Amino acid sequence: MPSRYSDAFVRNEREEQITAMADRLAAGFAERAAVHDEEGSFPFDNFEELRKAGYLKLTVPQEYGGDGASLYETLLAQERLGRGDGSTALAVGWHIGLMLHYSRTRLWPEELFAEFCREVARDGALINVFASEPATGSPTRGGRFETKAVRAEGGWLISGRKTYCTLSPILRHFIVSASLDGEEGTADFLVRSGPGIQVEETWNTLGMRATGSHDLILQDVFVPDRDRMTRADRAPGPHEDDGNGWMLHIPACYLGIAWAARDFAIRYAREYRPNSLPGPIADLAHIQDKIGAIEEKLITARTLLYSVADRWDRDPQGQSALRNELGLAKTVAVNNAISVVDLAMRIVGGASLSRKLPLERWYRDVRAGLHNPPMEDAVRLGLARRALQEKP
Ligand SMILES: Cc1cc2nc3c(=O)[nH]c(=O)nc-3n(C[C@H](O)[C@H](O)[C@H](O)COP(=O)(O)OP(=O)(O)OC[C@H]3O[C@@H](n4cnc5c(N)ncnc54)[C@H](O)[C@@H]3O)c2cc1C
Repeated sequence: MPSRYSDAFVRNEREEQITAMADRLAAGFAERAAVHDEEGSFPFDNFEELRKAGYLKLTVPQEYGGDGASLYETLLAQERLGRGDGSTALAVGWHIGLMLHYSRTRLWPEELFAEFCREVARDGALINVFASEPATGSPTRGGRFETKAVRAEGGWLISGRKTYCTLSPILRHFIVSASLDGEEGTADFLVRSGPGIQVEETWNTLGMRATGSHDLILQDVFVPDRDRMTRADRAPGPHEDDGNGWMLHIPACYLGIAWAARDFAIRYAREYRPNSLPGPIADLAHIQDKIGAIEEKLITARTLLYSVADRWDRDPQGQSALRNELGLAKTVAVNNAISVVDLAMRIVGGASLSRKLPLERWYRDVRAGLHNPPMEDAVRLGLARRALQEKP
């Protein structure tokens, strides 16, 4: 994979080092992506490389042994991993994004957070949140979790079924959102793998097939009080609402896939010389028009993504007010990424359908972005409400 130090969004030496590491990892992932996609197998090999490279501690605070990456730096890295393999990028993105989120909001009890951060830095521990359920659908819609936490001596017993549990084949720690038995509220619990937990291998999808997003079944899983992470009776901290900036790892991944498709199509257009033409198809006006459209979509989406990320990094007090812009950066990125892959396939022509080329995988993978949060209708509603509340 060619390096991309000319990328205008890379601003300094530290970002250059982070992107160089991500480029190196992505090159290896790209070689294995087709096999993991075909088999629907979890890329344990890629995660071992991520661990060895120290990537898993990218967003862990420096005081706890991590690299303390900003959101902007995280997106530069995640986008590159997406160029190599969308599934690996999205899967590790939940972990990297959540560690960034928790390091800013300090939602966990500090002692527990410090302990977990050290495990990430030392052993490459990983984490994800399991909120989605069959009956509740997307947790962003506000439905009540059917997974229940029932009071027990010194803690809670949790039972239920979670769907879309990305990273489930490799996780030893995960956060489970549950309704509290006999109480109004819900809470997040840090759960460790052990008795009562079973992964049911249900993930057999059109795209993002190597994310290991199976179902997780919990049956009376004991969680001690100290591992309850959120409490309704606790006053929110000063930075508790960060507008969910961490979720920009999602659009970064899909833009990475689009970027790979762009590079592939441009290379193909330069090299493919049908004998009906005096030169390569890159010389044709309709091909140049499509390449121009790809650039328009990619540059627009990346400009929005990185400008919002930079604002989020610079102004911790203003993060929650950026929620609409963060959502918009996601939906523009995903919609543009889908269009970019489509245009790339039109440039390549019928060969783009071949399973021997990566385009058909990117076409399937990029579509999954529509079903990652925040959803497009919710983003538009937020923008509409804000516009309607403006004083005339
Ligand atoms: C690749 C991938 C990885 C994922 N990883 C994770 C993960 O690690 N952890 C996790 O918790 N989740 C994960 N998810 C799940 C994701 O966050 C959503 O919960 C899931 O995609 C279902 O969303 P949905 O909108 O299709 O579902 P549903 O909520 O079932 O919605 C189905 C349809 O009904 C509409 N709808 C439903 N309710 C409402 C409502 N109240 N208002 C308006 N419209 C509504 C939706 O717009 C949609 O058209 C992942 C999803 C994907 C695709």
